[in-house]
Amino acid sequence: MDTKVLFYEKKEERNRCGVCPHNCLIDEGKFGVCKVRTVKDGELIAINYGEVSSSGVDPIEKKPLYHYKPSKNILSIGSFGCNMTCSFCQNYEISQNRPSTQFVSAEDLIRIIPTIENNVGVAFTYNEPMMWYEYMCDASKKIKEDNEDTSVVVVSNGYINEEPLRKLLPYVDAMNIDLKGYTNKYYNKVCGANLNPVLETIRRCNDHCHVEITTLLVSDENDSLEEAKEIAQFIASVNENIPLHLSRYFPRYKMENEATKIERITEAQNEAKKYLKHVYIGNVGGVDNNTYCSKCGALLINRNGYSTKVHISEGRCNECKEKINIII
Ligand code: SF4
Repeated sequence: MDTKVLFYEKKEERNRCGVCPHNCLIDEGKFGVCKVRTVKDGELIAINYGEVSSSGVDPIEKKPLYHYKPSKNILSIGSFGCNMTCSFCQNYEISQNRPSTQFVSAEDLIRIIPTIENNVGVAFTYNEPMMWYEYMCDASKKIKEDNEDTSVVVVSNGYINEEPLRKLLPYVDAMNIDLKGYTNKYYNKVCGANLNPVLETIRRCNDHCHVEITTLLVSDENDSLEEAKEIAQFIASVNENIPLHLSRYFPRYKMENEATKIERITEAQNEAKKYLKHVYIGNVGGVDNNTYCSKCGALLINRNGYSTKVHISEGRCNECKEKINIII
């Protein structure tokens, strides 16, 4: 359903949307880059309020979140629209097109969440949740008012302006943010966006909620050791405890490069580990994605596919009692 956009500026006959760094200037009947915000009768509106295109119950490790409520499930929902145009998008059917949807109110969500086994809350994911901003913000606030212990998770590309982000963050427990590369050239060419606003979002979110980062390593585009080093150094400058997930690219949508070589990903992991305490590999079977104590090396979390066993007591390593930055 339609709803008023919360952040905008009137410019005579036109409206400038203030939700994300594109800051689109939109004429009557036209849409912004995200294809969900338009001007109707002179007013800027979003057309996807409460409209759910996809839902499922996933292990939280699938988001991926490895250091937040390990071994739990999370109700995952998405709508449509995205403010990036990544050539390799895994979800282009809902990010770049308008799929069929079902309206789910915030009250519906509040009723459904506790009925799901081993479920910690809700994750806004699949398409770009910041493009579902008006609904996500309302629903998150109501979910937290109903039960502070219900987790709100956001899986995002991090391309959001400061003011809307700050309004949302009090209701968010954890985020996985894509850092798609470390050059503006890559962000411009492959994703239709800019790097700096994403770096700003990562800094801002780290001050307010649990953060993990995902980078899809695309062969011959962003899979150099130098770029892995820059990504890891940036994250370490924010917080060396932030887990980094280096994910393997496979050809998809408009991107035809070969699948990334596994050796490139393990080399990038080794490089990133020089700066970060926890670096994991995604989309590759048979790799060691366990979590070990960064002080004594003891096993903290054993992961076998999406089967997860946790060996932490009272937030500390069972062996050396080092305080562990994992939210149980
Ligand atoms: S949210 Fe959509 S309409 Fe608004 S600035 Fe971003 S891309 Fe443009």
